Amino acid sequence: MNYQRSSALFKEAEQYIPGGVNSPVRAFKAVGGTPIFAKRAQGAYVYDEDDNRYIDYINSWGPMILGHAFKPVVDAVINRTKQGTSFGIPTALETEIAKLAVSMVPNIDKIRFVNSGTEACMSAVRLARGFTKKDKIIKFAGCYHGHSDAFLIQAGSGAVTFGSPNSPGVTKGTAKDTLLANYNAIDSVKSLLAANKDEIACVIIEPVAGNMGCIPPKANFLKDLRMLCDTHNIVLIFDEVMTGFRLAKGGAQELFNVNADIVCFGKVIGGGLPVGAFAARHDIMNCLAPLGPVYQAGTLSGNPLAMAAGLEMLKALNSDQAIFNRLEEKTKYLHKGIEKVLRNHAITHTINRLGSMISVHFAEDEVVDFETAALGNNDRFKQFFHGMLNEGIYIAPSAFETWFISDALTYEDLDFTIAAVKNVVKRL
Ligand SMILES: *Cc1c(COP(=O)(O)O)cnc(C)c1O
Repeated sequence: MNYQRSSALFKEAEQYIPGGVNSPVRAFKAVGGTPIFAKRAQGAYVYDEDDNRYIDYINSWGPMILGHAFKPVVDAVINRTKQGTSFGIPTALETEIAKLAVSMVPNIDKIRFVNSGTEACMSAVRLARGFTKKDKIIKFAGCYHGHSDAFLIQAGSGAVTFGSPNSPGVTKGTAKDTLLANYNAIDSVKSLLAANKDEIACVIIEPVAGNMGCIPPKANFLKDLRMLCDTHNIVLIFDEVMTGFRLAKGGAQELFNVNADIVCFGKVIGGGLPVGAFAARHDIMNCLAPLGPVYQAGTLSGNPLAMAAGLEMLKALNSDQAIFNRLEEKTKYLHKGIEKVLRNHAITHTINRLGSMISVHFAEDEVVDFETAALGNNDRFKQFFHGMLNEGIYIAPSAFETWFISDALTYEDLDFTIAAVKNVVKRL
């Protein structure tokens, strides 16, 4: 493949944008090489500036669950645009999408829209603190909740009780209120609770982790978490920015039959436009300004273009119950196909999958948390990534990312992908 134009565009971008990108993982730093520059996309395919075609497994990191340039979304955005792009005054459209979202998701009465998943999670934590009048939060190592200060804390040895900032610019004061537990390890939560009695406002978790590869929760892990939160008067926040409207109509809450107190959304809910949202029962949501004292606001929140896109996306997902089954079948087919190839070539691997999320770890043992995810062979992943790119398959440029399956993918696309894996693996 020829990447000439992409390389030139990247060089130019680097002069004016830090690292040439507006979000770090796009820069290929984890895999080496220069990023491709996208020109357009349609359905299951993305085309780069050199006119190479790729089968897309990033799908804008999740939103394009029905494929790129999904017509109802595109049409709605074009029509809305002609009527003015933002007013800063309430619109009927906002209630329409709020009503639909609330009807699709279990256990929520009200929802507030923001502009990103980061904003949703940040606001959810503030709301939980305001509601419980407690300060500390528990998050899980390897879970990503956006880039606000309180979440940029990672596990290091000895950092289990007192988080240490892993980004300069996050103050010690902020870090000390974020406690780290281990994914799929309920005992790690119990010991944090024991050591911080009556101080924990909320536990925030990706109900299916998707930012250290795909890591499903073990049986009863979410239920146990729910029980602990009930016992200790702690708000349970499900960060469903990735899983919401993807794993099921009602997201992970529906799939696992576990209720969260606050749910965060992003990605799919905006149909590809910048949208996030957080939702909860009346008693929690009524703490928000202007009803209550917890402040949260946004000039472009509920923006008509974003709401029009999100509404069409949710309508499409709500009207076709078979979508989620289809997505799961396609993902399973891909899983079996890749697994067979890797096994035949004696490549050490662990494939994790849930619904339309899947990740290939070049790791020997089960991948159940951040520690085990980190044991994967990164050099092998780099080779695999570039090999796949060269075969016309675009997977995320990091071993710690999920592949997102879209409904636009055909079985031919999946067979093409499996054949590409075979070609790449032969040369490993
Ligand atoms: C992507 C993501 C976020 C952050 O959303 P942005 O829109 O990138 O700010 C938060 N939580 C999870 C689980 C995510 O996958």
